[in-house]
Amino acid sequence: MTAPPRPVPRPIIVWFRHDLRLADNPALAAAAESGSPVIPVRIREEDPDDRWLPGAASRWWLHGSLERLGGALAKLGSPLVLRSGRPEAVLADLAAETGAAAVHWNRRYGPAAVARDRRVEEALAARGIDVQAHNAALLLEPEGIRTKGGTPFKVFTPFWRALLTLPEPPHPTRAPDRLTAPPKPVRSERLADWGLRPTKPDWAGGLRETWEPGEDAARDRLADLLDGAITEYPTLRDRPDTDGTSRLSPHLAFGEIGPRQVWHASRHVADAHPERAAGIDAFLRELGWREFNHHLLHHFPVLPEDPLDQRFARFPWQTGEATLTAWQRGRTGYPIVDAGLRQLWQTGWMHNRVRMIVGSFLIKDLLLPWQTGQDWFWDTLVDADLANNAANWQWVAGCGADAAPFFRVFNPVLQGEKFDPQGDYVRRFVPELARLPAKWIHKPWQAPASVLADAGVRLGRDYPDPVVEHDAARDRALAAFATVRRKD
Ligand code: FAD
Repeated sequence: MTAPPRPVPRPIIVWFRHDLRLADNPALAAAAESGSPVIPVRIREEDPDDRWLPGAASRWWLHGSLERLGGALAKLGSPLVLRSGRPEAVLADLAAETGAAAVHWNRRYGPAAVARDRRVEEALAARGIDVQAHNAALLLEPEGIRTKGGTPFKVFTPFWRALLTLPEPPHPTRAPDRLTAPPKPVRSERLADWGLRPTKPDWAGGLRETWEPGEDAARDRLADLLDGAITEYPTLRDRPDTDGTSRLSPHLAFGEIGPRQVWHASRHVADAHPERAAGIDAFLRELGWREFNHHLLHHFPVLPEDPLDQRFARFPWQTGEATLTAWQRGRTGYPIVDAGLRQLWQTGWMHNRVRMIVGSFLIKDLLLPWQTGQDWFWDTLVDADLANNAANWQWVAGCGADAAPFFRVFNPVLQGEKFDPQGDYVRRFVPELARLPAKWIHKPWQAPASVLADAGVRLGRDYPDPVVEHDAARDRALAAFATVRRKD
């Protein structure tokens, strides 16, 4: 007697979101290990109510990342399926078409993402489809850590100390060796038709020159850092004129590498090379800020919209269209500010120190609301991340958790002189000032006429006069702050 044919297991859908990698991807690993056919899918979400759909620079990155992920999945045996629409409808249709029994995904954080996932889960459950959610984005999920009093942390240092006392995060899972495709090919849209990359005009030349999206590039970047700059990281991480940081942020934002991979690779190197351990501790502490910001977003979902310090809800902000445009274009007349904003425009990224300087300038010198800066960064950063962006803008504005106090107003000249002492960063992004000597490069309006003439700079023509006078602007900011300072 012949054995009856074994039933073909029903496929499992893996919904890729901000976890565009094969290794250390628990949703993919669980689906692959089940032995069932795997249908990897990416959904172009259409949700007019979601104000945080990817901005222009993020869409550029996403195209490259999906291209690479799609290629890698096809090599493993099951190509990436692209579909558009509301996720609950897309996934239900896909399950009905393919007979899929389950959907796996890695969790996302933030109010819209959480509400959406709940909606999708309910819609799928109603059709008898199992949903399995995993953690790929964080060392530790937000509910996994609390103060001794049982409340969410609002101060970074105790948060980080507490996290360091917990057991190490789990080791990353390996990329699957192969995937079983569903018996019949699944219809997919074409990535090129998603219009993620700009064409008319194509403004992405600087992004192409600067970045290579994808899991392989992310791994190489981490390895480069751990083999090289890490020893100097504690001192050079604040210097925009050097390559002193990892530039992993867009890779982390899209999940081309996960924090657990970064953690374990770093710890491994620290064990083998004790002389790198101090640099690695400092680097992982920055990764800790990423964790902390996700913790904040989870517990305080208003973070991207409203100040956590409610006094700032009635702050007397200005509404300066012209000054906002000058800031966005990098034409404020303050060279370090302008260099930062032009670096952002050209490359989709800005050095952290300079993000703080341009943020302080927008909020305190120009008295424009931090949300306008947050929106601009959201559209122009390749690493735009809801938790990191919102928490950092609130930090700079002085209205967030564990924030810099509002009265600490960065002086853009002194910041430039301290962190870009030779002016090399300014020269690179503000070429009209390239021939100014270091002594004047951060304050060209104070340079003698002969120095300006020798450097070929006509202030007000080749390069703008300062849009505000910093000392007066600082006084104005402090006076504005005094009106809200009193505790309610
Ligand atoms: P590294 O110094 O190599 O740090 C390693 C990783 O740690 C980073 O990739 C990042 O994931 C994390 N990290 C480092 N600094 C911070 C920080 N201050 N807060 C949170 N995580 C951090 N980062 C984003 O990823 N997305 C954003 O949208 C974003 N918006 C910001 C807005 C403002 C106003 C400011 C001041 C900072 C913002 N940051 C944001 C944080 C920080 O500037 C970037 O993460 C960092 O510059 C990325 O460069 P890197 O990868 O070379 O950092």
